[in-house]
Amino acid sequence: MKPAPFAYRRPGSLAEALSALASETNAKVLAGGQSLVPLLSMRLAAPAVLVDINGVPGLAGVEVSDDGVRVGALARHADVLASQEARRVQPLLAMALSHVAHATIRNRGTTVGSIVHADAAAEMPVVLKLLGGSVEAESVAGRRTIGADDLFLGPLESSLRPDEIAVSAFFPALAPGAGVAFDEIARRHGDYALCGVAALVRVDGDRVTEARAGYLSVNELPTVVDLTDVLAGHVVSTSSTTEALASTTDEALASTTDEALAAAGDVALAGLDPAEDIHATAAYRAQLVRVLTARVLRAAYDDALTRSTGSTGSTTEGNA
Ligand code: FAD
Repeated sequence: MKPAPFAYRRPGSLAEALSALASETNAKVLAGGQSLVPLLSMRLAAPAVLVDINGVPGLAGVEVSDDGVRVGALARHADVLASQEARRVQPLLAMALSHVAHATIRNRGTTVGSIVHADAAAEMPVVLKLLGGSVEAESVAGRRTIGADDLFLGPLESSLRPDEIAVSAFFPALAPGAGVAFDEIARRHGDYALCGVAALVRVDGDRVTEARAGYLSVNELPTVVDLTDVLAGHVVSTSSTTEALASTTDEALASTTDEALAAAGDVALAGLDPAEDIHATAAYRAQLVRVLTARVLRAAYDDALTRSTGSTGSTTEGNA
């Protein structure tokens, strides 16, 4: 099928792009086109005007500071993945991006586009939400910051207005004592996940003080569940950290840890509503939630210990 007819504008400045959006009804921003072009081709979207922002200067940066990583609207997934500084300040970005599609799609698709496209099966919306990040939106009326908690309204629906351009997304830095991890199950690498989990764990010494997990491809929205009450005070050891921490070799402690992680999976599931679709049954997704929750929380705990003690832990990164 071919797209329905549309007018095409390629503004050379942000001001021009914003005024094009303000003056047109039924206009759509075109960034990497990796989600929008398939929708046009299948006629699931039929905008009257496409406003291609690829000629707008100043939007392609990946700016890293001690506070976090600011990703410009035209930074491709591959640019963010390649930034060693971004990886240092907020390692969850690279961990999750290595699961986004294939290299050719990451070379073209933008991280900001992926966020505002608001697909609950995509990796970066849930990463933004778990980290408490935000999007900077601009229109002819001015600029505003939209926190991740206010951004995702429904399947493929964000709170960005039709006359706004998301000029950047901000991912806060990893806090001292914190660790992160990401994992997902897909039928083939590069496919959208059947279930994916990102986790953030904070420790004080070897004890958990905070634990949260974010889920993609489970609910209609990217969803974050606070698991601190289940895991606070626990040692959530892995084989690599048991080497670093003699105390965790205790058998009784290991079984308590397993019980706590299983409980975390159950609590997470209670806050989710796994759906059945052509790819998986609801029961299979629920099982993936349990298994991945335990696996990813463990890895995030391991990451937190590794960062605070300098020991070598496991990592879920790097199956690109
Ligand atoms: P576009 O396609 O250009 O736009 C998408 C939507 O966002 C449109 O509605 C557009 O108007 C809007 N938009 C984009 N940028 C802005 C902006 N700055 N301001 C306002 N509105 C904007 N994604 C995953 O997360 N995980 C995957 O596993 C995955 N697999 C894929 C596999 C295939 C085969 C393909 C084709 C795509 C896949 N994707 C996957 C999608 C890919 O990551 C897209 O790049 C991303 O979802 C959208 O980014 P884009 O720049 O291409 O946006």
